[in-house]
Amino acid sequence: MSQSPVIEFKGLVKKYRDLTAVDHLSFVIERGKITGLLGPNGAGKSTALKCLLGLATPTSGEALIEGTPYAKLHNPLARVGAVIEDAGFSPSLSATKNLRIVAASAGIPDSRVAEVLAMVELDHAAKKKSKEFSLGMKQRLSLAGALLGNPEILILDEPSNGLDPIGIAWLRKFLRELADQGCTILISSHQLAEMQHTVDDVVIINRGSMV
Ligand code: ADP
Repeated sequence: MSQSPVIEFKGLVKKYRDLTAVDHLSFVIERGKITGLLGPNGAGKSTALKCLLGLATPTSGEALIEGTPYAKLHNPLARVGAVIEDAGFSPSLSATKNLRIVAASAGIPDSRVAEVLAMVELDHAAKKKSKEFSLGMKQRLSLAGALLGNPEILILDEPSNGLDPIGIAWLRKFLRELADQGCTILISSHQLAEMQHTVDDVVIINRGSMV
């Protein structure tokens, strides 16, 4: 039996009216590696990731996770964790409460919330309201949310946006440890120089196509 690639883009096209945001994008991602999806702003990175996560419908082609569209995955939160744009946390709720809501929606036990907060080193801020978080803390809270289901695949859209050098170094080390434990990570960024120290493989796109 042939095993499907962990993530595969197969001739993915996404058009918004006259604009082709993603144009016949095809590539495969290796298991247990950190792959950077790099390209300038507007290149189509977010759109490609949204198609992969079932948040946008491809015009044609496919984006698959282990051979299956995200929407058809069994127990998706335990398979794929994602940090895309604003995670939608309630500003007036604590970090713990926000994560408990996500956990409850996915049938994940409350005890996991403290575990993921400790993983991203936010245990000291567990009771703090998320509106009181710095940008870096918000990024880590989103990451904690993505880790709730202990997923084998992690998809991050511009996770280092707004992070200071210490935050970026922290994220790099954190992602490397996850990958060393077998997690497959796909991470988008427009900052090529910064990403070269973080990723094992790169896919560079411009105007929706691989270059
Ligand atoms: P990147 O993530 O690489 O910055 P995006 O995928 O966000 O690029 O955007 C690719 C192109 O698609 C841009 O020209 C953007 O303006 C356009 N676009 C993205 N989302 C939408 C949308 N919902 N409706 C119309 N155009 C969009």
